[in-house]
Amino acid sequence: MAEVDCVVVGAGMSGLVTARQLAASGISTIVFDKGRSVGGRLATRRIGAARLDHGAQFVTARSEAFAAQLSDWQNRGLADVWCHGFERDDGHERWIGVNGMNSLAKDLANGLDVRVDHRVFAAAWEDTEWRVTCDDASSVTASTLVLTAPTPQSFSFVFEAVGTLPRELSSADHDRTIALLAVLDRPSTLTGSGARHEPSDDIAFVVDHAVKGISEVPAITLNASAAWSERFWDAAPHEIEQALEELIAPFLGSAHIVEQQVKKWRFATPRATWSSPCWAEEKFQLVVAGDAFGGPRVEGAFLSGLAAAETISQWCTRHR
Ligand SMILES: Cc1cc2nc3c(=O)[nH]c(=O)nc-3n(C[C@H](O)[C@H](O)[C@H](O)COP(=O)(O)OP(=O)(O)OC[C@H]3O[C@@H](n4cnc5c(N)ncnc54)[C@H](O)[C@@H]3O)c2cc1C
Repeated sequence: MAEVDCVVVGAGMSGLVTARQLAASGISTIVFDKGRSVGGRLATRRIGAARLDHGAQFVTARSEAFAAQLSDWQNRGLADVWCHGFERDDGHERWIGVNGMNSLAKDLANGLDVRVDHRVFAAAWEDTEWRVTCDDASSVTASTLVLTAPTPQSFSFVFEAVGTLPRELSSADHDRTIALLAVLDRPSTLTGSGARHEPSDDIAFVVDHAVKGISEVPAITLNASAAWSERFWDAAPHEIEQALEELIAPFLGSAHIVEQQVKKWRFATPRATWSSPCWAEEKFQLVVAGDAFGGPRVEGAFLSGLAAAETISQWCTRHR
């Protein structure tokens, strides 16, 4: 008998949603994440009095399921509508975590067996069950395995079943993002919503979190475009900082940067979306999910997590 019904690798939006759904159906689940906290690309950082989202900045809801989740968060004071567009009002709601986007992931993780600081190092199919080994050499056996890390990361540790994976899936690539997090000594020039979307070829998104409403002090996250990030990826840290300072300069006005950090997202955005919301192989009790399946957004990851849980519930029903 495996020690647990299911192991989920990755405590981002998709992995947490899968684990929540499975736990609600009575399927015992352990979630492993290599990060120090849950959330993955739903990331929020504190720098002194500043609070900055530095992965996903907002979410939109196109599906009923995600709209219901947002409504639940709103009722509990965790999420709210930020704006209806950045340069102009287009009528579509953009939602944020009122305490930062990461707080939404923390809410999903509440009550689950989530083990952070656990990098899954190997996953091997041993005839009837998975043996999942972490980099501290601890291991767990599970009847079912769900992989929700960006696919190139997932496939680096699944040796035994790798032959069954479609090639397009295992070689799916991601765009990179380099982000600058800058705390300012006075307000930036970003007014209105506090954000600009795709303001230039070099910048994908720039936002002042004081205007956005999550930071006590002015603090900007600037996400460089995929092309800019690719160009500077291997540059020396001081060169990257200098180039980012040039990008942020137009948004500073008379403000100065009092502290800054650079964050590099190697697997920021999947370049293609798989045709179904998850990939599953019943013979190996293996499900692969994440935003590369549901679409390159938080909502896509959420829907993929739901689909993964639904697949596993169906397998369990058949085997009972
Ligand atoms: C800079 C940036 C800006 C974005 N802006 C937006 C936005 O404004 N709106 C929007 O909707 N979406 C945005 N996105 C996309 C959105 O963040 C993602 O689509 C979504 O969060 C992906 O969730 P996920 O669960 O699929 O993956 P992830 O959040 O990446 O979760 C995967 C998890 O797997 C873990 N992991 C990886 N390897 C291992 C291992 N070996 N062992 C254990 N754990 C492992 C990682 O630590 C991670 O926590 C943005 C993304 C980035 C990077």
